[in-house]
Amino acid sequence: MAPRGLPLVISAPSGAGKTTLIRRLCEQEPGLEFSISHTTRPPRDGESDGVEYHFVDEAAFRAMAAAGGFAEWALVHGNLYGTSFAALEEQLARGSDVILDIDVQGALQVSQRFPEAVLIFIQPPSLEELHRRLEARGSDSPEVIERRLRNAAEEMSQAHRYHHVVVNERLERAAAELAAVVAMVRGATTQPSSRAATAATD
Ligand code: 5GP
Repeated sequence: MAPRGLPLVISAPSGAGKTTLIRRLCEQEPGLEFSISHTTRPPRDGESDGVEYHFVDEAAFRAMAAAGGFAEWALVHGNLYGTSFAALEEQLARGSDVILDIDVQGALQVSQRFPEAVLIFIQPPSLEELHRRLEARGSDSPEVIERRLRNAAEEMSQAHRYHHVVVNERLERAAAELAAVVAMVRGATTQPSSRAATAATD
């Protein structure tokens, strides 16, 4: 039977480059699975139900939360997001290492329920740089940028609760660092016999 998989929680303030870094990570570290969250946020163009998210209405979300169906859930930027407990358990029990792309509130809840979870925070080099990137992206109004920056400052103040912090100053370097962290934690938990063999020959 495959050993139980590892929950890998990745959080970042918006604009820190998390989506690109996670995509790179999956190219470099094969065999990772995603946890597909439930959300009350409407789908964006190009998103489909069951792929990026399970899109549900608030009543369905609240019923699932009341029934204890979520491993964690939180209100993020005005919408509800949660990780299905049963789906995550099934992935871990099958032996898959699972990426949870969730916010800081959710990360702390996962860490309590799954003490073996590895928490990785992706951080922009500074709030000034994040401000510059959000403006350069050109997709948000000044008010939205202000709100994202306030949220980012709040989230960055929680980075010390994570096991690993990857600063995304230059994409290539941050991608390599993230892959190295994930390879290390996967190796440390899934190959005890090869680790023992290495130690024996040291
Ligand atoms: P977006 O709506 O842009 O896809 O995601 C917004 C934020 O919600 C991101 O920070 C993302 O990490 C977070 N998020 C996505 N799914 C979950 C979830 O299941 N639980 C929590 N707590 N946060 C989530």
